[in-house]
Amino acid sequence: MSMTISYEVGNKLYLNITNRCPCSCEFCIRNNGDNAYGSEPLWLEREPEIDEIIDNLKQRDLQKYEEIVFCGFGEPCERIDDIVSVCRYLKSAGAPKIRLNTNGLSDLINERKTAHLLKDAVDIVSISLNTSSAEEYDKLCHPKFGKLSFEAILEFASDVKNYVPQVIFSLVDVIPQEQIEQCKAIAQRLSIPLRIRKYDS
Ligand code: SF4
Repeated sequence: MSMTISYEVGNKLYLNITNRCPCSCEFCIRNNGDNAYGSEPLWLEREPEIDEIIDNLKQRDLQKYEEIVFCGFGEPCERIDDIVSVCRYLKSAGAPKIRLNTNGLSDLINERKTAHLLKDAVDIVSISLNTSSAEEYDKLCHPKFGKLSFEAILEFASDVKNYVPQVIFSLVDVIPQEQIEQCKAIAQRLSIPLRIRKYDS
């Protein structure tokens, strides 16, 4: 257990603000150890308060980073309102670019529409598409919301496009090629670029 709120990955700064997540993806990095990219352990003793996150960020030279990324060992949108508050600080402190990496389940997690909250807060939203159907998503990611999840992700992605300059889908190449092709078709239909990442065990 630790209080690793931020950690550097190359020339980016990652923010680890929660360990909560409604999924249990089979490829999740949390299954392989307690850190990422050589960071300090990312399992938090407790969730940091907004003030603690900002105090941590004040110790960094934010302008030197290419990007500030909400990512870490959990789903950042479990704290969507706190993300917005932290982004307000980051923008005021001159952070160049802010990215949110998310599973896209924010609306189900927060039981309301949330995409609009990201307006003027984040610059890029990267949404894990992971599979090409509700059934496959359920099998691979085990979301607590069950088969509702996949449609909710697509809807969130479409909504976010209205508020955030750049939206991308991502998937890890642990699924069959046929599904990857279907994911490409979904991404194309929604006019959202798809980034395919290698599984890093
Ligand atoms: S959504 Fe992300 S943090 Fe949650 S289990 Fe899947 S890979 Fe891990």
